[in-house]
Amino acid sequence: MRIDVVTIFPEYLAPLDLSLIGKARRDDLLDLAIHDLRQFTHDRHNTVDDTPYGGGAGMVMKPQPWAEALTHVGGLASGAPRLLVPAPSGRPFTQEYARALAEAEWLAFACGRYEGIDERVYAYAADALGWEVVPVSLGDYVLGGGEVAVLAMVEAIARLIPGVVGNEESLVEESHEGGLLEYPVYTKPATWLPQPPAAAAATAYDVPATLLSGNHKAIADWRHQQRLERTVARRPDLLEAAATVTGLEDLEGG
Ligand code: SAM
Repeated sequence: MRIDVVTIFPEYLAPLDLSLIGKARRDDLLDLAIHDLRQFTHDRHNTVDDTPYGGGAGMVMKPQPWAEALTHVGGLASGAPRLLVPAPSGRPFTQEYARALAEAEWLAFACGRYEGIDERVYAYAADALGWEVVPVSLGDYVLGGGEVAVLAMVEAIARLIPGVVGNEESLVEESHEGGLLEYPVYTKPATWLPQPPAAAAATAYDVPATLLSGNHKAIADWRHQQRLERTVARRPDLLEAAATVTGLEDLEGG
């Protein structure tokens, strides 16, 4: 997959060199390029914003640098990217949408700042460049810029590209895959005494006995029950989608 990101803060995206995404880039599973919007300005101050028509607070990103930056991106490969525009007014970014985007060959992201990007840029991308333009929201809150949203979205998408996560089975039972949240997880030791003990009467914490039983059926049942209980407690809104999940009636009845 190819991903291009246009931003006025290229350094903000430095974490995309690390961990899974950094490795995916080195393994040629992901071709990711960051572009500085200011390189597409022509004045002494590299101006990218101006006051809003109609008045009001804040500044708006000027269309011309964006048009030049996007045109430049469009010339970097054959075909056309889908342009994702982080915006609190966009369609919600979900695991399901991340899965769909992971199948794309080319994505581009336009990181807004201030009050956002002049709306005509999206018409230009669609009309002149022939791109599909999709405003996408990370959640119902307002960030200072699109960069944090791009970090989150690129990570969520890239880990679904085949080969990026070593053990792809680990992607199957996750939260937001199949309606329920994931069960709690534990590792060694089976009995853990925190060091140094926080108080004179130190407490030891045990892993649930079922997970030590070696009984695969009992472990699967326990995990399923935990997923149900966690979803009921933390995200009851997800349960409508999970209405067909086995065991839900018992939990609701009890
Ligand atoms: N005035 C805009 C509005 O109310 O819709 C918000 C502008 S916000 C301060 C600046 C930039 O941050 C936006 O252009 C967008 O790129 C990004 N941003 C803010 N909240 C976001 C969210 N929830 N999801 C994705 N991007 C967001």
